[in-house]
Amino acid sequence: MSLKKERYMITKVIHEEKIQKAKKYLEKGERFVIITHVTPDGDAIGSALGLYHFLIAYGKDNVSIVVPNNFPQFYKWMPGCKEIVIHEKYSEFAEQLIREADVIFCLDFNEPKRIEKLAPFVLEAKGRKVMIDHHLNPADFCRVTISYPEMSSTSEMIFRFICRIGLFDLINRDCATCIYTGMMTDTGAFTYNSNKPEIYTIISELIKKGIDKDLIYRKVNQVHSESRLRMMGYVLFEKMKVYPEKHAALITLSKEELNRFHYITGDTEGFVNLPLSIEGVLFSVFIREDKDYVKVSLRSVGDFPCNQFANRFFNGGGHKNASGGEFYGSLVEAIDTFEKGLEEFNPNEIEDLK
Ligand code: 5GP
Ligand code: MN
Repeated sequence: MSLKKERYMITKVIHEEKIQKAKKYLEKGERFVIITHVTPDGDAIGSALGLYHFLIAYGKDNVSIVVPNNFPQFYKWMPGCKEIVIHEKYSEFAEQLIREADVIFCLDFNEPKRIEKLAPFVLEAKGRKVMIDHHLNPADFCRVTISYPEMSSTSEMIFRFICRIGLFDLINRDCATCIYTGMMTDTGAFTYNSNKPEIYTIISELIKKGIDKDLIYRKVNQVHSESRLRMMGYVLFEKMKVYPEKHAALITLSKEELNRFHYITGDTEGFVNLPLSIEGVLFSVFIREDKDYVKVSLRSVGDFPCNQFANRFFNGGGHKNASGGEFYGSLVEAIDTFEKGLEEFNPNEIEDLK
Protein backbone atom coordinates (compact mmCIF):
# COMPACT_ATOMS: atom_id res chain seq x y z
CA MET A 1 0.00 0.00 0.00
CA SER A 2 1.37 3.42 -0.86
CA LEU A 3 2.15 5.95 1.83
CA LYS A 4 -0.35 8.32 0.35
CA LYS A 5 -3.17 5.84 0.64
CA GLU A 6 -2.34 5.04 4.26
CA ARG A 7 -2.14 8.70 5.11
CA TYR A 8 -5.77 9.12 4.20
CA MET A 9 -6.70 6.46 6.73
CA ILE A 10 -6.16 9.02 9.49
CA THR A 11 -9.25 10.96 10.50
CA LYS A 12 -9.25 14.70 9.92
CA VAL A 13 -9.37 15.81 13.53
CA ILE A 14 -8.23 19.43 13.24
CA HIS A 15 -10.85 21.81 11.85
CA GLU A 16 -10.17 22.95 8.33
CA GLU A 17 -10.38 26.69 9.01
CA LYS A 18 -7.73 26.37 11.71
CA ILE A 19 -5.46 24.53 9.30
CA GLN A 20 -5.95 27.22 6.66
CA LYS A 21 -5.18 30.06 9.06
CA ALA A 22 -2.09 28.38 10.47
CA LYS A 23 -0.95 27.50 6.96
CA LYS A 24 -1.08 31.16 5.99
CA TYR A 25 1.09 32.09 8.97
CA LEU A 26 3.54 29.37 7.98
CA GLU A 27 3.78 30.63 4.42
CA LYS A 28 4.18 34.27 5.34
CA GLY A 29 6.14 33.99 8.57
CA GLU A 30 9.88 34.52 8.70
CA ARG A 31 10.81 34.43 12.36
CA PHE A 32 9.29 31.53 14.25
CA VAL A 33 9.42 30.83 17.96
CA ILE A 34 8.16 27.61 19.51
CA ILE A 35 7.30 27.76 23.22
CA THR A 36 6.45 24.98 25.58
CA HIS A 37 5.59 24.55 29.26
CA VAL A 38 7.68 24.82 32.41
CA THR A 39 9.68 21.74 33.40
CA PRO A 40 9.26 20.37 29.89
CA ASP A 41 8.45 16.68 29.59
CA GLY A 42 8.96 14.33 26.65
CA ASP A 43 5.85 15.51 24.84
CA ALA A 44 6.78 19.17 25.30
CA ILE A 45 10.30 18.68 23.95
CA GLY A 46 9.18 16.11 21.35
CA SER A 47 6.44 18.27 19.88
CA ALA A 48 8.63 21.40 19.90
CA LEU A 49 11.53 19.66 18.18
CA GLY A 50 9.21 17.82 15.79
CA LEU A 51 7.75 21.12 14.65
CA TYR A 52 11.23 22.66 14.57
CA HIS A 53 12.60 20.01 12.19
CA PHE A 54 9.55 20.34 10.00
CA LEU A 55 9.89 24.14 9.76
CA ILE A 56 13.58 23.82 8.85
CA ALA A 57 12.73 21.22 6.19
CA TYR A 58 10.04 23.59 4.93
CA GLY A 59 12.77 26.13 4.26
CA LYS A 60 12.44 28.45 7.25
CA ASP A 61 15.85 29.40 8.56
CA ASN A 62 14.87 31.50 11.52
CA VAL A 63 13.25 29.05 13.93
CA SER A 64 13.86 28.98 17.69
CA ILE A 65 12.57 26.99 20.61
CA VAL A 66 12.22 28.73 23.97
CA VAL A 67 11.42 26.87 27.20
CA PRO A 68 11.02 28.40 30.66
CA ASN A 69 13.55 26.17 32.43
CA ASN A 70 15.76 23.16 32.00
CA PHE A 71 14.56 19.73 30.92
CA PRO A 72 15.73 16.25 31.97
CA GLN A 73 19.05 14.81 30.84
CA PHE A 74 17.34 11.78 29.32
CA TYR A 75 15.89 13.98 26.56
CA LYS A 76 19.21 15.59 25.74
CA TRP A 77 20.04 13.07 23.01
CA MET A 78 17.12 14.29 20.91
CA PRO A 79 18.11 15.72 17.52
CA GLY A 80 18.15 19.51 17.66
CA CYS A 81 17.89 19.77 21.45
CA LYS A 82 21.07 21.89 21.66
CA GLU A 83 19.19 24.64 19.85
CA ILE A 84 16.66 24.98 22.68
CA VAL A 85 16.95 28.31 24.49
CA ILE A 86 16.31 28.09 28.23
CA HIS A 87 14.77 31.32 29.48
CA GLU A 88 16.04 30.81 33.03
CA LYS A 89 19.63 30.78 31.68
CA TYR A 90 19.43 33.15 28.72
CA SER A 91 16.61 35.49 29.69
CA GLU A 92 17.36 38.47 27.49
CA PHE A 93 18.03 36.42 24.39
CA ALA A 94 14.86 34.38 24.92
CA GLU A 95 12.78 37.51 25.47
CA GLN A 96 14.22 39.15 22.34
CA LEU A 97 13.36 36.09 20.23
CA ILE A 98 9.77 36.21 21.48
CA ARG A 99 9.49 39.96 20.93
CA GLU A 100 10.77 39.74 17.37
CA ALA A 101 8.91 36.62 16.25
CA ASP A 102 6.19 36.96 13.69
CA VAL A 103 4.75 33.54 14.49
CA ILE A 104 4.71 31.97 17.96
CA PHE A 105 3.68 28.36 18.43
CA CYS A 106 2.48 27.50 21.93
CA LEU A 107 2.79 23.76 22.34
CA ASP A 108 1.55 21.36 25.03
CA PHE A 109 0.07 23.98 27.35
CA ASN A 110 -3.38 25.49 27.61
CA GLU A 111 -2.91 28.63 29.68
CA PRO A 112 -0.20 31.29 30.15
CA LYS A 113 0.29 30.22 33.77
CA ARG A 114 1.96 27.04 32.54
CA ILE A 115 4.90 28.96 31.09
CA GLU A 116 5.41 30.88 34.36
CA LYS A 117 7.93 33.72 33.89
CA LEU A 118 7.64 33.58 30.10
CA ALA A 119 3.94 34.39 30.24
CA PRO A 120 4.12 38.23 30.16
CA PHE A 121 6.52 38.18 27.21
CA VAL A 122 4.35 35.83 25.20
CA LEU A 123 1.15 37.71 26.05
CA GLU A 124 2.68 41.04 25.02
CA ALA A 125 4.35 39.72 21.87
CA LYS A 126 2.98 40.98 18.55
CA GLY A 127 3.59 37.74 16.64
CA ARG A 128 0.66 35.62 15.56
CA LYS A 129 0.12 32.89 18.12
CA VAL A 130 -0.93 29.35 17.35
CA MET A 131 -1.70 26.92 20.16
CA ILE A 132 -1.36 23.21 19.50
CA ASP A 133 -2.31 21.29 22.62
CA HIS A 134 -4.32 18.47 24.17
CA HIS A 135 -5.22 19.81 27.63
CA LEU A 136 -8.78 20.57 28.67
CA ASN A 137 -10.15 24.12 28.74
CA PRO A 138 -7.71 26.10 26.59
CA ALA A 139 -7.43 29.77 27.56
CA ASP A 140 -8.14 32.30 24.84
CA PHE A 141 -4.77 33.94 24.15
CA CYS A 142 -3.86 32.66 20.69
CA ARG A 143 -5.15 33.65 17.25
CA VAL A 144 -5.54 30.01 16.34
CA THR A 145 -6.33 27.48 19.05
CA ILE A 146 -5.81 23.91 17.93
CA SER A 147 -6.82 22.04 21.07
CA TYR A 148 -8.05 18.44 21.09
CA PRO A 149 -8.00 16.84 24.56
CA GLU A 150 -8.91 13.46 23.13
CA MET A 151 -5.49 13.28 21.48
CA SER A 152 -2.84 11.24 23.26
CA SER A 153 -0.13 13.85 22.91
CA THR A 154 0.75 17.18 21.38
CA SER A 155 3.38 15.33 19.36
CA GLU A 156 0.64 13.27 17.71
CA MET A 157 -1.09 16.54 16.87
CA ILE A 158 2.08 17.89 15.26
CA PHE A 159 2.08 14.83 12.98
CA ARG A 160 -1.57 15.39 12.10
CA PHE A 161 -0.98 19.11 11.59
CA ILE A 162 1.89 18.54 9.14
CA CYS A 163 -0.13 15.93 7.24
CA ARG A 164 -3.12 18.22 7.01
CA ILE A 165 -1.15 21.02 5.44
CA GLY A 166 -0.10 18.48 2.85
CA LEU A 167 3.56 18.27 3.79
CA PHE A 168 3.90 14.71 5.10
CA ASP A 169 6.87 14.28 2.77
CA LEU A 170 8.83 16.90 4.72
CA ILE A 171 8.79 14.75 7.86
CA ASN A 172 12.36 13.48 7.98
CA ARG A 173 13.87 10.97 10.37
CA ASP A 174 14.80 13.57 12.99
CA CYS A 175 11.31 15.04 12.93
CA ALA A 176 9.77 11.56 13.18
CA THR A 177 12.07 10.62 16.06
CA CYS A 178 10.98 13.65 18.10
CA ILE A 179 7.30 13.09 17.37
CA TYR A 180 7.56 9.45 18.39
CA THR A 181 9.38 10.32 21.61
CA GLY A 182 6.56 12.67 22.64
CA MET A 183 3.87 10.13 21.78
CA MET A 184 5.70 7.45 23.71
CA THR A 185 6.38 9.46 26.85
CA ASP A 186 2.87 10.94 27.15
CA THR A 187 1.33 7.47 27.07
CA GLY A 188 3.80 5.71 29.39
CA ALA A 189 5.19 3.84 26.38
CA PHE A 190 1.64 3.14 25.16
CA THR A 191 0.34 1.75 28.44
CA TYR A 192 -2.33 4.42 29.06
CA ASN A 193 -4.31 6.87 26.95
CA SER A 194 -3.32 4.77 23.99
CA ASN A 195 -6.27 2.71 22.83
CA LYS A 196 -6.99 4.68 19.67
CA PRO A 197 -6.04 2.61 16.62
CA GLU A 198 -4.83 5.63 14.66
CA ILE A 199 -1.93 6.08 17.09
CA TYR A 200 -0.51 2.87 15.63
CA THR A 201 -1.12 3.96 12.06
CA ILE A 202 0.95 7.04 12.85
CA ILE A 203 3.68 4.97 14.51
CA SER A 204 3.79 2.78 11.46
CA GLU A 205 4.39 5.85 9.29
CA LEU A 206 7.09 7.08 11.67
CA ILE A 207 8.87 3.75 11.46
CA LYS A 208 8.79 4.02 7.67
CA LYS A 209 10.50 7.37 8.10
CA GLY A 210 13.41 5.50 9.65
CA ILE A 211 12.97 5.88 13.41
CA ASP A 212 14.33 3.21 15.75
CA LYS A 213 11.53 2.95 18.30
CA ASP A 214 13.33 0.40 20.47
CA LEU A 215 16.41 2.58 20.70
CA ILE A 216 14.27 5.62 21.56
CA TYR A 217 12.74 3.67 24.45
CA ARG A 218 16.20 2.76 25.75
CA LYS A 219 17.52 6.28 25.40
CA VAL A 220 14.66 7.67 27.48
CA ASN A 221 14.27 4.91 30.04
CA GLN A 222 17.62 3.25 30.55
CA VAL A 223 19.99 6.11 31.20
CA HIS A 224 19.46 6.86 34.84
CA SER A 225 22.08 7.35 37.54
CA GLU A 226 22.76 4.88 40.31
CA SER A 227 21.63 7.42 42.89
CA ARG A 228 18.24 7.78 41.23
CA LEU A 229 17.63 4.07 41.57
CA ARG A 230 18.72 4.14 45.22
CA MET A 231 16.37 7.07 45.80
CA MET A 232 13.55 5.02 44.26
CA GLY A 233 14.36 2.19 46.66
CA TYR A 234 14.33 4.61 49.59
CA VAL A 235 11.03 6.09 48.47
CA LEU A 236 9.33 2.72 48.18
CA PHE A 237 10.70 1.37 51.44
CA GLU A 238 10.41 4.39 53.68
CA LYS A 239 8.41 7.15 52.06
CA MET A 240 5.34 5.58 50.52
CA LYS A 241 2.18 5.83 52.56
CA VAL A 242 -0.82 3.79 51.49
CA TYR A 243 -4.39 4.71 52.42
CA PRO A 244 -6.13 1.40 51.60
CA GLU A 245 -9.64 2.53 52.50
CA LYS A 246 -9.22 5.55 50.22
CA HIS A 247 -7.59 3.54 47.40
CA ALA A 248 -4.80 6.08 47.50
CA ALA A 249 -1.07 6.41 48.10
CA LEU A 250 1.32 9.26 48.81
CA ILE A 251 5.05 9.73 48.33
CA THR A 252 6.88 12.79 49.63
CA LEU A 253 10.45 14.03 49.32
CA SER A 254 12.00 17.01 51.06
CA LYS A 255 14.87 19.12 49.74
CA GLU A 256 17.24 17.41 52.18
CA GLU A 257 16.23 13.97 50.97
CA LEU A 258 16.64 15.01 47.35
CA ASN A 259 20.12 16.38 48.12
CA ARG A 260 21.06 13.17 49.84
CA PHE A 261 20.50 11.35 46.54
CA HIS A 262 22.19 14.07 44.42
CA TYR A 263 18.91 14.95 42.75
CA ILE A 264 18.98 16.46 39.29
CA THR A 265 15.96 17.47 37.17
CA GLY A 266 14.10 14.41 36.00
CA ASP A 267 15.40 12.03 38.67
CA THR A 268 11.98 11.61 40.25
CA GLU A 269 10.19 11.15 36.92
CA GLY A 270 7.87 8.16 37.13
CA PHE A 271 7.94 7.87 40.93
CA VAL A 272 4.30 8.93 41.11
CA ASN A 273 3.28 5.92 39.03
CA LEU A 274 4.93 3.34 41.27
CA PRO A 275 2.15 2.94 43.90
CA LEU A 276 -0.40 2.32 41.16
CA SER A 277 0.99 -1.19 40.80
CA ILE A 278 -0.44 -2.03 44.24
CA GLU A 279 -3.74 -3.83 43.94
CA GLY A 280 -6.56 -1.50 44.94
CA VAL A 281 -4.56 1.74 44.66
CA LEU A 282 -6.32 3.91 42.11
CA PHE A 283 -4.92 7.32 43.01
CA SER A 284 -1.30 8.23 43.65
CA VAL A 285 0.26 11.54 44.62
CA PHE A 286 3.89 12.57 44.75
CA ILE A 287 4.82 15.72 46.66
CA ARG A 288 8.30 17.16 46.17
CA GLU A 289 9.82 20.20 47.78
CA ASP A 290 11.07 22.50 45.00
CA LYS A 291 13.01 25.78 45.01
CA ASP A 292 10.15 28.26 45.38
CA TYR A 293 7.17 25.98 45.96
CA VAL A 294 6.06 22.43 46.59
CA LYS A 295 5.42 20.49 43.37
CA VAL A 296 2.57 18.02 43.31
CA SER A 297 2.13 15.25 40.75
CA LEU A 298 -1.05 13.21 40.62
CA ARG A 299 -1.98 10.04 38.75
CA SER A 300 -5.06 7.85 38.72
CA VAL A 301 -6.31 4.76 36.99
CA GLY A 302 -9.88 4.43 35.79
CA ASP A 303 -12.56 7.01 36.41
CA PHE A 304 -11.14 9.05 39.27
CA PRO A 305 -10.36 12.51 37.86
CA CYS A 306 -7.11 13.48 39.56
CA ASN A 307 -7.17 16.80 37.66
CA GLN A 308 -10.19 17.79 39.77
CA PHE A 309 -8.24 16.95 42.92
CA ALA A 310 -5.28 18.99 41.60
CA ASN A 311 -7.59 21.88 40.85
CA ARG A 312 -9.40 21.87 44.17
CA PHE A 313 -6.43 21.45 46.46
CA PHE A 314 -3.25 22.28 44.57
CA ASN A 315 -3.99 25.14 42.26
CA GLY A 316 -3.40 22.91 39.25
CA GLY A 317 -5.01 20.76 36.61
CA GLY A 318 -4.11 18.54 33.69
CA HIS A 319 -5.59 15.32 32.37
CA LYS A 320 -8.07 13.01 34.07
CA ASN A 321 -5.41 10.40 34.84
CA ALA A 322 -2.27 12.58 34.95
CA SER A 323 -2.20 16.00 36.46
CA GLY A 324 -0.14 18.35 38.54
CA GLY A 325 -0.17 21.42 40.66
CA GLU A 326 1.76 23.67 42.97
CA PHE A 327 1.48 24.36 46.65
CA TYR A 328 2.77 27.50 48.32
CA GLY A 329 3.62 26.56 51.87
CA SER A 330 5.67 23.95 53.70
CA LEU A 331 5.93 20.29 52.80
CA VAL A 332 4.07 19.40 56.00
CA GLU A 333 1.22 21.74 55.07
CA ALA A 334 1.08 20.21 51.60
CA ILE A 335 0.78 16.72 53.10
CA ASP A 336 -1.92 17.99 55.43
CA THR A 337 -3.80 19.49 52.48
CA PHE A 338 -3.56 16.17 50.65
CA GLU A 339 -4.89 14.19 53.62
CA LYS A 340 -7.75 16.61 54.21
CA GLY A 341 -8.51 16.55 50.50
CA LEU A 342 -8.58 12.79 50.57
CA GLU A 343 -11.28 12.85 53.24
CA GLU A 344 -13.52 14.83 50.92
CA PHE A 345 -12.61 13.43 47.55
CA ASN A 346 -11.17 10.00 46.79
CA PRO A 347 -11.81 7.10 44.44
CA ASN A 348 -14.48 5.80 46.86
CA GLU A 349 -16.49 8.91 46.17
CA ILE A 350 -16.42 8.52 42.44
CA GLU A 351 -20.05 7.45 42.30
CA ASP A 352 -21.01 10.87 43.65
CA LEU A 353 -19.67 12.47 40.52
CA LYS A 354 -21.98 10.63 38.20
P1 5GP B 1 3.69 15.95 35.93
O1 5GP B 1 3.16 15.26 37.12
O2 5GP B 1 4.35 15.00 34.98
O3 5GP B 1 4.52 17.15 36.26
O4 5GP B 1 2.44 16.53 35.16
C1 5GP B 1 1.46 15.71 34.59
C2 5GP B 1 0.48 16.56 33.82
O5 5GP B 1 -0.19 17.41 34.74
C3 5GP B 1 1.11 17.49 32.82
O6 5GP B 1 1.14 16.91 31.55
C4 5GP B 1 0.19 18.67 32.84
O7 5GP B 1 -0.89 18.42 32.00
C5 5GP B 1 -0.37 18.71 34.21
N1 5GP B 1 0.27 19.65 35.15
C6 5GP B 1 1.44 19.48 35.81
N2 5GP B 1 1.68 20.52 36.62
C7 5GP B 1 0.64 21.36 36.49
C8 5GP B 1 0.32 22.61 37.08
O8 5GP B 1 1.03 23.17 37.91
N3 5GP B 1 -0.86 23.18 36.66
C9 5GP B 1 -1.68 22.59 35.75
N4 5GP B 1 -2.81 23.22 35.40
N5 5GP B 1 -1.39 21.41 35.19
C10 5GP B 1 -0.27 20.80 35.54
MN1 MN C 1 1.43 16.47 26.51
